[in-house]
Amino acid sequence: MQFSEIPGLPETKEKLINAVKFNHLAHALLFHGPEGSANLTLALALATFMYCENPSESDSCGTCPSCQRMSRLVMPDLNFAFPVIAKEKEEDDDEKTDVLTSWRKFATTLPYGNVHDFIYFNGFEKKQLNISKASARKIIQALSLMSFEGGYKIMLIWAPEFLHPSAANALLKIIEEPPAKTIFMLVTSQADQLLTTILSRTQKISVRAFSDEEITSHLVGTGLCDSKSAEQIAMLADGNMREAYRMVDQVEDKQVSQIRDWFRLCVSKDLKEIFDLADKFHKEPKESQKSLMLTGLNVTREILLKNFDLDSLLRTTEEDRKFINAISKRVLTEDHAMKLYDSFNQAHYHLERNGNAKMIFTDLSMEILVMMAQKK
Ligand SMILES: [Zn+2]
Repeated sequence: MQFSEIPGLPETKEKLINAVKFNHLAHALLFHGPEGSANLTLALALATFMYCENPSESDSCGTCPSCQRMSRLVMPDLNFAFPVIAKEKEEDDDEKTDVLTSWRKFATTLPYGNVHDFIYFNGFEKKQLNISKASARKIIQALSLMSFEGGYKIMLIWAPEFLHPSAANALLKIIEEPPAKTIFMLVTSQADQLLTTILSRTQKISVRAFSDEEITSHLVGTGLCDSKSAEQIAMLADGNMREAYRMVDQVEDKQVSQIRDWFRLCVSKDLKEIFDLADKFHKEPKESQKSLMLTGLNVTREILLKNFDLDSLLRTTEEDRKFINAISKRVLTEDHAMKLYDSFNQAHYHLERNGNAKMIFTDLSMEILVMMAQKK
């Protein structure tokens, strides 16, 4: 995670960067902001900046070996603690590795998610979660070892409100006086639920909610949706990026079903219906047209991944998955899908340069129709 990947918040970023530059970073930081704010992403961007081998004035480089490891959260000197299912006895090392892998995936793919998302992500449902005293012992143990790279050791505790009181008490001393070059980053949306003894030992980094403009520019800039939908979503999301992502998924789903219906018409070679659809497409606002082409691009990418049996990389929902499976198995070969990928890209390019939407859509439909006629 780089600072540039987090929309807006220039004042907080500057404060953190200056603290590193002028060497006055406190040894225990508490990132606290409302749900869907950048409290986790800022902590990760700060860690990336601190480990970067070639940082600029305002950000990590994003390409050095450390930045690459940080993008997968596999930096050996960066440790994590987070809530897991409370257990009678300590989990074995295999289980620990599994949840750590799962945590890394969660933090990289849903960095604005909350504890409920984490529970859902892991299938932990309805179980009691905590950060146990055994975990606290492991934290202390990990920090007592030499750093691997000779730089900072960081212990990032996500959702520290889940620290069992015995765990919190066990950590007080080390948070107060950590070993040299050791930094605690506590990340929470529920600072009011933390023990005052923990609170008083941290420097607070208050993270405000995103502004509507920050959410809009992020959604448009990352290609998640067109500017009109982004503005509407930002207004409803009320500064909460988690909520904004959830709404984007709903918009995206609607477009995936449009693509699905369109592909089905092409399979059935119903020319009249296809021309009607081209008319309808022509009348849509430019931004929606472009956005539909991007969804087409995503669907095609999913078909390609499915063709290559790379199921773990698929992002579509269960419902859309059935359609992707059917199309990739029976209808579109890899060669076709590659060509189609290119065609969606071209269509998007021409729409941007004010090409005739009806013609672009009809051409694409014919291309798909011909491809689908040459079944595997
Ligand atoms: Zn770097």
